[in-house]
Amino acid sequence: MRPDVLEGDVSRAAIAVAAIAIGLFAPLPAAEADARARPAVRVEREIARLLRLDLPVRCGGLRSRYVALTFDDGPGPNSQLAVRILARAHAHATFFLVGKELRYWPRIPRRELRLAALGDHTWTHRDLLALPNSAIRRELVATRTAIEQATGVRVRLFRPPYGATDAAVARVAAHLGMVEVLWSIDSRDSEGASWSAIGAEVARQIRGGSIVLLHENRGQTIRALRDLILPLLRARHLITVSVPQLLALDPPSRAQLRAGYAGCQAVHAAP
Ligand SMILES: [Zn+2]
Repeated sequence: MRPDVLEGDVSRAAIAVAAIAIGLFAPLPAAEADARARPAVRVEREIARLLRLDLPVRCGGLRSRYVALTFDDGPGPNSQLAVRILARAHAHATFFLVGKELRYWPRIPRRELRLAALGDHTWTHRDLLALPNSAIRRELVATRTAIEQATGVRVRLFRPPYGATDAAVARVAAHLGMVEVLWSIDSRDSEGASWSAIGAEVARQIRGGSIVLLHENRGQTIRALRDLILPLLRARHLITVSVPQLLALDPPSRAQLRAGYAGCQAVHAAP
């Protein structure tokens, strides 16, 4: 069955198939003709730049209407539902997957790929700061390999569990060719926030360039996504994209990356 998002649009479907090869999903709005023309090239160029800088990404450049919804800790029982809700809204996203869960949900990653990029969220979801480099590397490689075997798509993104990272973690990820992606907005769903509180937190902070942390297998998150977050983004004319798309369309400057979370609060001059 073809996903809703592609129905009746053959040219967009063709772009999508090409983009899926690197974990990037089209279509994009007509105004972004340049980005549509060579999305894979733009993404690869940006990923190479970020790997050279070796700094985690927390948001885009804050110069666009694009936002990245990210979903951690799947696949799980709600992952398919999240995909359906996103597809119905013609939304795009990024899923950061926990390797050891893949065996229980082997078909989910391919379904997620229809509208999302996939990232590595380690095999066991442990705090990487407590592990030696060799174990960090095993966590990342095992997960990346499992995702790539499930989908045939190369994994270029990595998110450390709990956002716990340091120079050693960053170095391991960079050596493996993966960009470390954190977030600029924590929806607080992992702390047990209600669906209305999750929606309110996102509403309070969201802006073009935001990367939002969500967990689709938390019960309240699905309702917040469907009833508050997606309608809110539509009302504010913000467009959901995957993280690779955000990096290509609205890349963070070096000054922003160096500034950490502060770099996601205000537009910094280009370096
Ligand atoms: Zn997590």
